[in-house]
Amino acid sequence: MRSHTLVPRLLLLGSLTLTAACSSGASEPSGKAPTDARPDSSSSAVETVDPSKIKGLNIVNDNSERKSCPFATSYPDVPGAQAMTAAMKKDVRGRLAAFRSGACTAGAGRAEGRDLNISHQFLVASGDVLGVRLITQDHGAAGSGLSTRTYWYDGKAGAYRTALGLVATGSRNAFIAALKDQLQGREGVDAGTLHDAFAGRRDRTAVLDDMAFTADGGLRVEFDGGEVGTPAAGSYVVTLSKKAITPWLSAFGLRAQRQTVRPGGPLDLGAPHVPDPAVPTHTASGDDGTDCKKVKCIALTFDDGPAAPETAILLTSLARYKARVTFFTIGQNVAAHPDLVRAEARAGHEIGNHSWNHPDLTRLTPEQIASQLNRTSAAIKAATGQAPTVFRPPYGALNETVRSATTMSPVLWNVDTEDWKYPDAAKVAQIVVGKARPNAVVLMHDIHATSVEAVPEILRILTARAYRFVTVSHLRATL
Ligand code: ZN
Repeated sequence: MRSHTLVPRLLLLGSLTLTAACSSGASEPSGKAPTDARPDSSSSAVETVDPSKIKGLNIVNDNSERKSCPFATSYPDVPGAQAMTAAMKKDVRGRLAAFRSGACTAGAGRAEGRDLNISHQFLVASGDVLGVRLITQDHGAAGSGLSTRTYWYDGKAGAYRTALGLVATGSRNAFIAALKDQLQGREGVDAGTLHDAFAGRRDRTAVLDDMAFTADGGLRVEFDGGEVGTPAAGSYVVTLSKKAITPWLSAFGLRAQRQTVRPGGPLDLGAPHVPDPAVPTHTASGDDGTDCKKVKCIALTFDDGPAAPETAILLTSLARYKARVTFFTIGQNVAAHPDLVRAEARAGHEIGNHSWNHPDLTRLTPEQIASQLNRTSAAIKAATGQAPTVFRPPYGALNETVRSATTMSPVLWNVDTEDWKYPDAAKVAQIVVGKARPNAVVLMHDIHATSVEAVPEILRILTARAYRFVTVSHLRATL
Protein backbone atom coordinates (compact mmCIF):
# COMPACT_ATOMS: atom_id res chain seq x y z
CA MET A 1 0.00 0.00 0.00
CA ARG A 2 1.41 3.32 -0.98
CA SER A 3 1.55 6.01 1.59
CA HIS A 4 -0.67 8.96 0.91
CA THR A 5 0.52 11.54 3.32
CA LEU A 6 0.23 14.98 1.89
CA VAL A 7 3.62 16.15 0.71
CA PRO A 8 4.96 19.60 1.49
CA ARG A 9 2.81 22.28 0.06
CA LEU A 10 4.20 24.29 -2.79
CA LEU A 11 4.06 28.02 -2.75
CA LEU A 12 1.88 29.58 -5.37
CA LEU A 13 4.43 30.78 -7.85
CA GLY A 14 4.58 29.86 -11.47
CA SER A 15 1.19 29.72 -13.07
CA LEU A 16 0.23 33.18 -12.13
CA THR A 17 3.39 34.59 -13.59
CA LEU A 18 1.33 35.11 -16.71
CA THR A 19 -0.48 37.73 -14.74
CA ALA A 20 -0.32 41.05 -16.45
CA ALA A 21 -2.82 42.68 -14.17
CA CYS A 22 -1.59 45.46 -12.01
CA SER A 23 -3.53 45.82 -8.86
CA SER A 24 -3.92 49.26 -7.54
CA GLY A 25 -4.00 50.93 -4.20
CA ALA A 26 -3.24 48.78 -1.23
CA SER A 27 -4.23 45.54 -2.91
CA GLU A 28 -1.70 42.77 -3.26
CA PRO A 29 -0.25 42.66 -6.76
CA SER A 30 -1.99 39.67 -8.23
CA GLY A 31 0.24 36.71 -8.83
CA LYS A 32 3.20 38.16 -7.08
CA ALA A 33 5.28 35.41 -5.59
CA PRO A 34 5.13 35.46 -1.82
CA THR A 35 8.91 35.29 -1.68
CA ASP A 36 9.38 38.64 -3.33
CA ALA A 37 6.28 40.32 -2.04
CA ARG A 38 6.21 42.71 0.87
CA PRO A 39 7.14 41.05 4.17
CA ASP A 40 3.66 41.66 5.58
CA SER A 41 1.92 40.04 2.63
CA SER A 42 2.55 36.47 3.79
CA SER A 43 -0.87 36.44 5.41
CA SER A 44 -2.54 36.87 2.01
CA ALA A 45 -0.48 34.22 0.24
CA VAL A 46 -2.39 31.19 -1.01
CA GLU A 47 -0.44 27.97 -1.23
CA THR A 48 -0.97 25.20 -3.71
CA VAL A 49 -0.74 21.47 -3.11
CA ASP A 50 1.18 18.67 -4.82
CA PRO A 51 -1.19 16.94 -7.26
CA SER A 52 0.88 13.78 -7.65
CA LYS A 53 -0.76 12.21 -4.58
CA ILE A 54 -4.29 12.48 -5.97
CA LYS A 55 -5.39 8.98 -6.86
CA GLY A 56 -6.56 8.51 -10.44
CA LEU A 57 -5.90 12.14 -11.39
CA ASN A 58 -6.19 12.91 -15.08
CA ILE A 59 -5.23 16.28 -16.55
CA VAL A 60 -7.40 17.13 -19.54
CA ASN A 61 -5.26 18.99 -22.07
CA ASP A 62 -6.34 20.57 -25.32
CA ASN A 63 -3.58 22.38 -27.17
CA SER A 64 -3.52 23.92 -30.59
CA GLU A 65 -0.18 23.69 -32.29
CA ARG A 66 -1.03 26.23 -34.94
CA LYS A 67 0.66 29.59 -34.67
CA SER A 68 -2.36 31.09 -36.42
CA CYS A 69 -4.67 30.02 -33.58
CA PRO A 70 -2.61 29.37 -30.48
CA PHE A 71 -4.36 28.03 -27.40
CA ALA A 72 -3.60 25.65 -24.57
CA THR A 73 -6.20 24.62 -22.02
CA SER A 74 -6.04 22.26 -19.10
CA TYR A 75 -8.21 21.25 -16.19
CA PRO A 76 -8.07 18.34 -13.77
CA ASP A 77 -10.43 15.40 -13.77
CA VAL A 78 -10.45 13.98 -10.24
CA PRO A 79 -12.31 10.69 -9.62
CA GLY A 80 -15.35 11.30 -7.43
CA ALA A 81 -15.69 15.00 -8.33
CA GLN A 82 -17.56 14.58 -11.60
CA ALA A 83 -19.94 17.50 -11.05
CA MET A 84 -17.00 19.85 -10.49
CA THR A 85 -15.14 18.45 -13.50
CA ALA A 86 -18.26 19.03 -15.58
CA ALA A 87 -18.42 22.67 -14.42
CA MET A 88 -14.76 23.25 -15.35
CA LYS A 89 -15.20 21.49 -18.68
CA LYS A 90 -18.20 23.67 -19.51
CA ASP A 91 -16.31 26.87 -18.65
CA VAL A 92 -13.18 25.85 -20.56
CA ARG A 93 -15.18 24.81 -23.61
CA GLY A 94 -17.18 28.04 -23.54
CA ARG A 95 -14.06 30.19 -23.37
CA LEU A 96 -12.35 28.17 -26.07
CA ALA A 97 -15.37 28.38 -28.39
CA ALA A 98 -15.53 32.15 -27.91
CA PHE A 99 -11.80 32.45 -28.57
CA ARG A 100 -11.93 30.31 -31.68
CA SER A 101 -14.90 32.10 -33.19
CA GLY A 102 -13.35 35.47 -32.42
CA ALA A 103 -9.75 34.81 -33.32
CA CYS A 104 -9.48 31.74 -35.47
CA THR A 105 -12.37 31.66 -37.93
CA ALA A 106 -11.51 31.98 -41.60
CA GLY A 107 -13.00 35.46 -41.75
CA ALA A 108 -11.03 36.70 -38.77
CA GLY A 109 -7.72 35.87 -40.41
CA ARG A 110 -4.68 35.26 -38.27
CA ALA A 111 -5.11 35.46 -34.55
CA GLU A 112 -2.70 38.35 -34.44
CA GLY A 113 -1.90 39.13 -30.85
CA ARG A 114 -4.21 36.45 -29.50
CA ASP A 115 -3.18 33.49 -27.39
CA LEU A 116 -5.61 31.73 -25.07
CA ASN A 117 -4.13 29.92 -22.11
CA ILE A 118 -6.06 28.17 -19.34
CA SER A 119 -3.98 26.58 -16.61
CA HIS A 120 -4.87 25.14 -13.22
CA GLN A 121 -3.69 25.01 -9.62
CA PHE A 122 -4.74 22.75 -6.78
CA LEU A 123 -5.66 24.78 -3.70
CA VAL A 124 -6.82 21.97 -1.43
CA ALA A 125 -6.80 18.22 -2.00
CA SER A 126 -7.20 16.46 1.32
CA GLY A 127 -9.89 14.79 3.37
CA ASP A 128 -13.24 15.42 1.72
CA VAL A 129 -12.31 18.81 0.22
CA LEU A 130 -11.03 19.55 -3.25
CA GLY A 131 -10.33 23.11 -4.41
CA VAL A 132 -8.98 24.08 -7.83
CA ARG A 133 -8.30 27.41 -9.49
CA LEU A 134 -8.44 27.88 -13.25
CA ILE A 135 -6.41 30.80 -14.59
CA THR A 136 -7.40 32.12 -17.97
CA GLN A 137 -5.07 34.42 -19.85
CA ASP A 138 -6.37 35.68 -23.17
CA HIS A 139 -3.59 37.78 -24.62
CA GLY A 140 -4.98 40.37 -26.92
CA ALA A 141 -8.43 40.38 -25.34
CA ALA A 142 -9.89 43.53 -23.88
CA GLY A 143 -8.26 44.68 -20.65
CA SER A 144 -5.60 42.45 -19.13
CA GLY A 145 -7.28 39.34 -20.53
CA LEU A 146 -6.76 37.65 -17.17
CA SER A 147 -9.52 35.99 -15.24
CA THR A 148 -9.47 33.44 -12.46
CA ARG A 149 -12.09 31.20 -10.92
CA THR A 150 -12.04 28.69 -8.09
CA TYR A 151 -14.05 25.46 -8.03
CA TRP A 152 -14.81 23.47 -4.91
CA TYR A 153 -15.97 19.95 -4.27
CA ASP A 154 -17.60 18.84 -1.03
CA GLY A 155 -16.96 15.11 -0.71
CA LYS A 156 -19.14 14.80 2.39
CA ALA A 157 -22.24 16.08 0.61
CA GLY A 158 -21.14 14.73 -2.77
CA ALA A 159 -21.70 18.19 -4.27
CA TYR A 160 -19.95 20.76 -6.41
CA ARG A 161 -19.68 24.18 -4.72
CA THR A 162 -18.98 27.55 -6.24
CA ALA A 163 -16.63 29.93 -4.42
CA LEU A 164 -19.60 31.70 -2.85
CA GLY A 165 -20.61 28.36 -1.36
CA LEU A 166 -17.80 28.85 1.17
CA VAL A 167 -19.90 31.57 2.81
CA ALA A 168 -23.16 30.78 4.66
CA THR A 169 -26.25 32.06 2.86
CA GLY A 170 -27.38 34.13 5.83
CA SER A 171 -23.98 35.83 6.15
CA ARG A 172 -23.47 36.88 2.58
CA ASN A 173 -24.76 40.43 3.00
CA ALA A 174 -22.41 41.05 5.92
CA PHE A 175 -19.56 39.41 3.98
CA ILE A 176 -20.16 41.60 0.94
CA ALA A 177 -20.38 44.72 3.09
CA ALA A 178 -16.95 43.87 4.51
CA LEU A 179 -15.52 43.42 1.01
CA LYS A 180 -16.99 46.73 -0.12
CA ASP A 181 -15.47 48.36 2.89
CA GLN A 182 -12.02 47.13 1.89
CA LEU A 183 -12.45 48.07 -1.76
CA GLN A 184 -13.85 51.52 -1.18
CA GLY A 185 -11.34 54.24 -1.76
CA ARG A 186 -8.92 52.14 -3.74
CA GLU A 187 -7.70 53.68 -6.94
CA GLY A 188 -10.08 52.90 -9.81
CA VAL A 189 -12.98 51.92 -7.56
CA ASP A 190 -16.03 54.14 -7.23
CA ALA A 191 -19.32 53.77 -5.41
CA GLY A 192 -21.25 53.22 -8.65
CA THR A 193 -19.22 50.28 -9.95
CA LEU A 194 -19.13 48.78 -6.47
CA HIS A 195 -22.90 48.96 -6.12
CA ASP A 196 -23.47 47.48 -9.59
CA ALA A 197 -20.98 44.67 -9.01
CA PHE A 198 -22.99 43.20 -6.14
CA ALA A 199 -26.48 44.24 -7.19
CA GLY A 200 -28.12 40.95 -8.22
CA ARG A 201 -27.96 37.44 -6.87
CA ARG A 202 -26.57 36.10 -10.15
CA ASP A 203 -23.98 38.85 -10.37
CA ARG A 204 -22.73 37.95 -6.94
CA THR A 205 -21.86 34.40 -7.95
CA ALA A 206 -20.06 35.63 -11.05
CA VAL A 207 -18.15 38.43 -9.33
CA LEU A 208 -17.30 36.39 -6.24
CA ASP A 209 -15.98 33.46 -8.24
CA ASP A 210 -12.41 33.35 -6.93
CA MET A 211 -12.01 32.66 -3.24
CA ALA A 212 -9.41 30.59 -1.44
CA PHE A 213 -8.05 30.34 2.06
CA THR A 214 -4.64 31.60 3.01
CA ALA A 215 -2.23 29.42 4.97
CA ASP A 216 -3.35 31.06 8.19
CA GLY A 217 -7.07 30.66 7.58
CA GLY A 218 -7.96 34.05 6.10
CA LEU A 219 -10.07 34.25 2.96
CA ARG A 220 -8.52 35.75 -0.15
CA VAL A 221 -10.99 37.08 -2.70
CA GLU A 222 -9.80 38.04 -6.16
CA PHE A 223 -11.76 40.23 -8.56
CA ASP A 224 -10.98 40.16 -12.28
CA GLY A 225 -10.23 43.44 -14.04
CA GLY A 226 -13.34 45.53 -14.61
CA GLU A 227 -15.50 43.71 -12.05
CA VAL A 228 -15.29 46.18 -9.20
CA GLY A 229 -13.14 48.94 -10.65
CA THR A 230 -12.09 50.44 -13.95
CA PRO A 231 -10.76 47.74 -16.31
CA ALA A 232 -7.48 49.63 -16.69
CA ALA A 233 -6.76 49.16 -12.98
CA GLY A 234 -6.56 45.37 -13.39
CA SER A 235 -7.53 42.85 -10.75
CA TYR A 236 -8.12 43.52 -7.06
CA VAL A 237 -7.43 41.27 -4.13
CA VAL A 238 -9.10 41.53 -0.74
CA THR A 239 -8.06 39.30 2.14
CA LEU A 240 -10.28 38.97 5.20
CA SER A 241 -8.57 37.70 8.33
CA LYS A 242 -9.43 34.34 9.87
CA LYS A 243 -11.10 36.11 12.75
CA ALA A 244 -13.27 38.19 10.44
CA ILE A 245 -14.29 35.45 8.03
CA THR A 246 -14.78 32.42 10.27
CA PRO A 247 -18.21 33.42 11.70
CA TRP A 248 -19.53 33.86 8.14
CA LEU A 249 -18.37 30.55 6.68
CA SER A 250 -20.76 27.77 5.66
CA ALA A 251 -20.26 24.29 7.12
CA PHE A 252 -18.37 23.41 3.94
CA GLY A 253 -16.39 26.66 4.14
CA LEU A 254 -15.25 25.71 7.65
CA ARG A 255 -14.08 22.31 6.45
CA ALA A 256 -12.30 23.86 3.46
CA GLN A 257 -10.61 26.34 5.77
CA ARG A 258 -9.50 23.54 8.10
CA GLN A 259 -8.16 21.40 5.24
CA THR A 260 -6.21 24.39 3.94
CA VAL A 261 -4.60 25.30 7.25
CA ARG A 262 -4.03 21.74 8.41
CA PRO A 263 -4.49 19.15 5.65
CA GLY A 264 -5.94 16.00 7.14
CA GLY A 265 -4.58 13.22 4.96
CA PRO A 266 -5.22 11.95 1.46
CA LEU A 267 -8.10 13.20 -0.63
CA ASP A 268 -11.08 10.88 -0.37
CA LEU A 269 -14.21 11.90 -2.25
CA GLY A 270 -15.84 8.52 -1.88
CA ALA A 271 -15.02 7.46 -5.45
CA PRO A 272 -14.82 3.73 -6.01
CA HIS A 273 -11.30 2.43 -5.53
CA VAL A 274 -9.22 3.13 -8.59
CA PRO A 275 -6.10 0.99 -8.90
CA ASP A 276 -2.93 2.95 -9.58
CA PRO A 277 -2.23 2.88 -13.31
CA ALA A 278 0.69 0.65 -14.14
CA VAL A 279 3.88 2.58 -14.80
CA PRO A 280 6.28 0.77 -17.15
CA THR A 281 9.52 -0.32 -15.54
CA HIS A 282 11.77 -0.70 -18.56
CA THR A 283 15.36 0.15 -17.85
CA ALA A 284 17.74 1.23 -20.58
CA SER A 285 20.84 -0.86 -20.87
CA GLY A 286 23.56 1.77 -20.64
CA ASP A 287 24.39 4.53 -23.07
CA ASP A 288 23.20 4.48 -26.63
CA GLY A 289 26.16 3.58 -28.85
CA THR A 290 24.46 4.46 -32.12
CA ASP A 291 26.66 6.51 -34.44
CA CYS A 292 24.38 8.62 -36.58
CA LYS A 293 27.24 9.33 -38.97
CA LYS A 294 27.27 5.65 -39.91
CA VAL A 295 23.65 4.54 -39.56
CA LYS A 296 20.26 6.01 -40.42
CA CYS A 297 18.95 7.89 -37.37
CA ILE A 298 15.67 9.60 -36.63
CA ALA A 299 14.63 11.57 -33.53
CA LEU A 300 10.98 11.16 -32.66
CA THR A 301 9.80 13.81 -30.21
CA PHE A 302 6.60 13.80 -28.15
CA ASP A 303 5.28 17.09 -26.79
CA ASP A 304 2.77 18.26 -24.18
CA GLY A 305 2.76 15.22 -21.86
CA PRO A 306 3.06 13.31 -19.73
CA ALA A 307 -0.51 12.09 -19.86
CA ALA A 308 -2.12 9.09 -18.21
CA PRO A 309 -2.57 6.50 -19.58
CA GLU A 310 -1.22 7.55 -23.00
CA THR A 311 2.43 8.04 -21.99
CA ALA A 312 2.57 4.68 -20.20
CA ILE A 313 1.21 2.90 -23.28
CA LEU A 314 3.73 4.74 -25.47
CA LEU A 315 6.63 3.72 -23.22
CA THR A 316 5.68 0.06 -23.59
CA SER A 317 5.63 0.34 -27.41
CA LEU A 318 9.00 2.12 -27.45
CA ALA A 319 10.59 -0.51 -25.20
CA ARG A 320 9.46 -3.27 -27.53
CA TYR A 321 11.55 -1.74 -30.34
CA LYS A 322 14.35 -0.46 -28.07
CA ALA A 323 13.56 2.97 -29.46
CA ARG A 324 14.77 6.09 -27.65
CA VAL A 325 12.87 9.33 -28.09
CA THR A 326 12.65 12.82 -26.58
CA PHE A 327 9.73 14.03 -24.49
CA PHE A 328 9.10 17.77 -24.29
CA THR A 329 7.06 17.84 -21.14
CA ILE A 330 4.70 20.44 -19.71
CA GLY A 331 5.54 21.37 -16.12
CA GLN A 332 2.03 21.17 -14.73
CA ASN A 333 1.70 17.68 -16.22
CA VAL A 334 5.06 16.65 -14.76
CA ALA A 335 3.78 17.80 -11.36
CA ALA A 336 0.69 15.60 -11.78
CA HIS A 337 2.55 12.54 -13.10
CA PRO A 338 6.19 12.55 -11.92
CA ASP A 339 6.18 8.74 -11.95
CA LEU A 340 5.68 8.73 -15.73
CA VAL A 341 8.55 11.18 -16.26
CA ARG A 342 10.73 9.02 -14.03
CA ALA A 343 9.79 6.01 -16.17
CA GLU A 344 10.70 7.91 -19.35
CA ALA A 345 14.15 8.77 -18.00
CA ARG A 346 14.74 5.25 -16.65
CA ALA A 347 14.00 3.80 -20.07
CA GLY A 348 16.76 5.93 -21.63
CA HIS A 349 14.62 8.62 -23.20
CA GLU A 350 15.50 12.29 -23.07
CA ILE A 351 13.32 14.68 -21.09
CA GLY A 352 13.05 18.21 -22.46
CA ASN A 353 11.29 21.30 -21.15
CA HIS A 354 8.16 22.59 -22.93
CA SER A 355 7.23 25.33 -20.39
CA TRP A 356 4.92 25.15 -17.37
CA ASN A 357 1.59 25.66 -19.09
CA HIS A 358 2.25 26.17 -22.80
CA PRO A 359 2.06 29.92 -23.37
CA ASP A 360 3.61 31.68 -26.35
CA LEU A 361 6.85 32.62 -24.60
CA THR A 362 7.57 35.47 -27.00
CA ARG A 363 4.66 37.40 -25.43
CA LEU A 364 6.09 37.19 -21.91
CA THR A 365 8.61 39.28 -19.99
CA PRO A 366 12.08 37.80 -19.41
CA GLU A 367 11.10 37.10 -15.78
CA GLN A 368 7.93 35.30 -16.83
CA ILE A 369 9.84 33.25 -19.43
CA ALA A 370 12.44 32.28 -16.83
CA SER A 371 9.68 31.30 -14.40
CA GLN A 372 7.92 29.14 -17.01
CA LEU A 373 11.15 27.29 -17.83
CA ASN A 374 12.81 27.15 -14.41
CA ARG A 375 9.72 25.88 -12.66
CA THR A 376 9.39 23.09 -15.23
CA SER A 377 13.07 22.16 -15.03
CA ALA A 378 12.73 21.97 -11.24
CA ALA A 379 9.74 19.61 -11.57
CA ILE A 380 11.66 17.42 -14.03
CA LYS A 381 14.69 17.37 -11.75
CA ALA A 382 12.51 16.48 -8.77
CA ALA A 383 11.07 13.55 -10.76
CA THR A 384 14.22 12.23 -12.43
CA GLY A 385 17.17 13.64 -10.52
CA GLN A 386 18.37 15.47 -13.61
CA ALA A 387 17.54 18.89 -15.00
CA PRO A 388 16.88 19.04 -18.74
CA THR A 389 19.41 20.59 -21.14
CA VAL A 390 17.02 21.17 -24.04
CA PHE A 391 13.71 23.02 -24.36
CA ARG A 392 11.11 23.43 -27.06
CA PRO A 393 9.15 26.68 -27.03
CA PRO A 394 5.37 26.18 -27.41
CA TYR A 395 4.19 26.85 -30.98
CA GLY A 396 7.87 26.96 -31.96
CA ALA A 397 7.72 30.65 -31.01
CA LEU A 398 11.30 31.67 -30.35
CA ASN A 399 13.07 35.03 -30.23
CA GLU A 400 16.17 36.56 -28.66
CA THR A 401 14.38 37.30 -25.37
CA VAL A 402 13.39 33.64 -25.04
CA ARG A 403 16.86 32.40 -26.00
CA SER A 404 18.60 34.60 -23.50
CA ALA A 405 16.21 33.71 -20.64
CA THR A 406 17.74 30.23 -20.34
CA THR A 407 20.94 28.27 -20.73
CA MET A 408 19.01 25.35 -22.23
CA SER A 409 19.36 24.76 -25.93
CA PRO A 410 16.23 25.27 -28.05
CA VAL A 411 14.98 22.38 -30.17
CA LEU A 412 12.44 22.89 -32.94
CA TRP A 413 11.58 20.23 -35.53
CA ASN A 414 11.88 19.66 -39.25
CA VAL A 415 9.05 17.19 -39.74
CA ASP A 416 5.63 18.32 -38.54
CA THR A 417 3.26 15.37 -38.56
CA GLU A 418 0.22 17.47 -37.53
CA ASP A 419 -0.81 14.38 -35.60
CA TRP A 420 -3.32 16.39 -33.54
CA LYS A 421 -5.36 17.00 -36.68
CA TYR A 422 -6.22 13.39 -37.39
CA PRO A 423 -8.20 11.31 -34.91
CA ASP A 424 -7.11 8.26 -36.88
CA ALA A 425 -4.07 6.20 -35.88
CA ALA A 426 -3.63 4.58 -39.32
CA LYS A 427 -3.58 8.01 -40.95
CA VAL A 428 -1.04 9.36 -38.43
CA ALA A 429 1.22 6.34 -38.99
CA GLN A 430 0.97 6.77 -42.74
CA ILE A 431 1.91 10.47 -42.52
CA VAL A 432 4.87 9.93 -40.18
CA VAL A 433 6.26 7.06 -42.25
CA GLY A 434 5.75 9.08 -45.43
CA LYS A 435 7.61 12.11 -44.06
CA ALA A 436 10.43 10.22 -42.29
CA ARG A 437 13.94 10.91 -43.51
CA PRO A 438 17.41 10.38 -42.09
CA ASN A 439 18.33 12.65 -39.16
CA ALA A 440 14.87 14.21 -39.02
CA VAL A 441 13.45 15.64 -35.80
CA VAL A 442 9.81 14.58 -35.90
CA LEU A 443 7.09 16.42 -33.95
CA MET A 444 4.31 14.36 -32.34
CA HIS A 445 2.20 14.59 -29.17
CA ASP A 446 1.69 11.94 -26.49
CA ILE A 447 -1.48 13.58 -25.14
CA HIS A 448 -3.37 12.18 -28.14
CA ALA A 449 -4.44 8.55 -27.89
CA THR A 450 -4.41 8.20 -31.67
CA SER A 451 -0.79 9.35 -31.93
CA VAL A 452 0.23 6.84 -29.28
CA GLU A 453 -1.77 4.15 -31.04
CA ALA A 454 0.08 4.94 -34.29
CA VAL A 455 3.53 4.41 -32.79
CA PRO A 456 3.86 0.57 -33.04
CA GLU A 457 3.16 0.74 -36.78
CA ILE A 458 5.62 3.65 -37.22
CA LEU A 459 8.32 1.76 -35.33
CA ARG A 460 7.66 -1.46 -37.22
CA ILE A 461 7.94 0.10 -40.68
CA LEU A 462 10.85 2.43 -39.92
CA THR A 463 12.77 -0.39 -38.21
CA ALA A 464 12.29 -2.45 -41.36
CA ARG A 465 13.80 0.48 -43.27
CA ALA A 466 16.86 0.33 -41.00
CA TYR A 467 16.16 3.47 -38.98
CA ARG A 468 17.55 3.83 -35.46
CA PHE A 469 15.50 5.84 -33.00
CA VAL A 470 17.65 8.23 -30.98
CA THR A 471 17.17 11.20 -28.67
CA VAL A 472 17.62 14.74 -29.94
CA SER A 473 20.79 15.29 -27.91
CA HIS A 474 22.22 11.99 -29.15
CA LEU A 475 21.49 12.97 -32.75
CA ARG A 476 23.16 16.34 -32.23
CA ALA A 477 26.16 14.82 -30.48
CA THR A 478 26.92 12.20 -33.09
CA LEU A 479 26.22 14.09 -36.29
ZN1 ZN B 1 3.19 21.91 -27.50
